[in-house]
Amino acid sequence: MSDEKLLMTPGPTMIPTRVLEVMRRQIIHHRTENYERGFDELCENLKIVFQTKNTVMTFVSSGTGSMEAAIVNMFSPGDKVLAVSVGAFGDRFADIASIFGLEVQKLAVKWGEAADPAEIAAILDGDRERKIKGVLITHNETSTGVTNDIAAVGKLTAGTERLLIVDAISSLAGLELKMDEWGLDVVVTGSQKALMNAPGLAFAAVSEKGWAAREKSSLPKFYWDFKKYRNGILKQSENPPYTPAISLVLAQNEAVKMILEEGLENVFARHKKHALAAQQGVAALGLKLFPKQKDSSYVITAVLPPDGVEIGKVIKDMNVSFDVMVVGGQKHLKGKLLRIGHCGYFNRFDLIKTFSALELSLQKAGYAFEPGASVAAVQKAVAD
Ligand SMILES: *Cc1c(COP(=O)(O)O)cnc(C)c1O
Repeated sequence: MSDEKLLMTPGPTMIPTRVLEVMRRQIIHHRTENYERGFDELCENLKIVFQTKNTVMTFVSSGTGSMEAAIVNMFSPGDKVLAVSVGAFGDRFADIASIFGLEVQKLAVKWGEAADPAEIAAILDGDRERKIKGVLITHNETSTGVTNDIAAVGKLTAGTERLLIVDAISSLAGLELKMDEWGLDVVVTGSQKALMNAPGLAFAAVSEKGWAAREKSSLPKFYWDFKKYRNGILKQSENPPYTPAISLVLAQNEAVKMILEEGLENVFARHKKHALAAQQGVAALGLKLFPKQKDSSYVITAVLPPDGVEIGKVIKDMNVSFDVMVVGGQKHLKGKLLRIGHCGYFNRFDLIKTFSALELSLQKAGYAFEPGASVAAVQKAVAD
């Protein structure tokens, strides 16, 4: 038996012991030097992770809150945005923009495919009157296991008045993302995926162009007003403006330190290597990826289940019998997908264990394959 589940899910993800140790400490007050020291350190280190000179703000929220915050801080009612959606989270960004009264032009890409930057370029070029004020896009579409080419999209908006708003909730600290170099205007993320912390914090960074847009934006904002958070961090007003999630913030500081100790490049390389290993494992089972291999994410692998196998049962059995958690599909892909997260805090044996559990559960479900094939393939791919 095991008293702990191995979460190979795309959030929440496992939390390092060092981070858990910080979380369990007695609470301290946030208007103290002790807290401020930790928070200041986190703010500085987050800039390294976001690859930006801009202030990185921290909020008490799940990731979605920071998506909403990006909309209310950057836009005014009636502003037109292009919402590029390649799955459930892209749809969510478009929905948030609609609810706040923006005019949303949606580029809905077939689920399982990445957005084509040329198609986005054509839409922007066709907007001769420059009505489109911003582009909303998901970096890593967790629902389909697809990664968009954000560097290419950044080239389309950099140097123009248009803003590029990026949902990096499942990608930041797992996939390469260069906020400044790629010309991204707002990058938002959450604590519970590649950032190796518990759920409960959201983060956002804003470019200079974005801050100018914040001055013009007339959508209502109080709790979510970016300006209050930035001014706090810059010590021009109360820092932070409202009671922070003290334990989570200090835990996040520890997790980000671990990421920087491993080295960002090494962290990205680890995610890539294990994603490619997972792809080998999938192939060894005679199964297919949901996305095209070139679009397939390095933080999550989405797999098409074998014909005739009820994949929901397999996923449940992996959890109940073998203490390994993976997830199924969302929305219209419910029952049609198996998604394996390899995001944040995990190592090679976690992936090997996951494929071992997958094999055992697939066997029980009556799927025929060579036992051990995927475990051997993954083990070989992560050997050095
Ligand atoms: C997880 C996720 C979200 C939502 O984050 P919550 O923390 O559940 O609000 C949004 N976008 C993407 C790409 C995600 O992976």
